[in-house]
Amino acid sequence: MKLISSNGWPASKDREAIGVKSFQVPGTTLKLQCAEACAPLLIGFTAEFHKLIEPVDEGKLDDWGYAFRDIRGMTGKLSNHSSGTAIDLNAPKHPLGKVGTFPNEKVPMIRALAKKYGLIWGGDYRNRKDEMHFEIALPPAKVAALIAKLEKQNEGI
Ligand SMILES: [Zn+2]
Repeated sequence: MKLISSNGWPASKDREAIGVKSFQVPGTTLKLQCAEACAPLLIGFTAEFHKLIEPVDEGKLDDWGYAFRDIRGMTGKLSNHSSGTAIDLNAPKHPLGKVGTFPNEKVPMIRALAKKYGLIWGGDYRNRKDEMHFEIALPPAKVAALIAKLEKQNEGI
């Protein structure tokens, strides 16, 4: 049976089967494990989050990527961490279910960055908020197109 996480990306207990690798976040000492196909988005986002929102490599290791597991509290529904398409940043500062963990004035920038990189922010979940959490919101073909577009923009700078 082919496993799929809630955003439609292939999930597996075998990280190699879905191309999960470790990636260094530029400008930080942090490495995140995520699917290679969407790594430029998750890693590019994290680098900008580090610069514009809050540092991601201070204190203990509290930033997470790939992990094969259900959505917390929802047995049988695979979390997007299971496909290496979701990350949690500064988890203890932004605990699951808590709202307002970021300063109000930073929230528009968080949303703008998430949009730029094709992500959904867990702080915008309709039900239980998850402010540490960011996940790929696009299918693989659209992710590839967005990566190509962002690369072009970067070349233009
Ligand atoms: Zn998460």
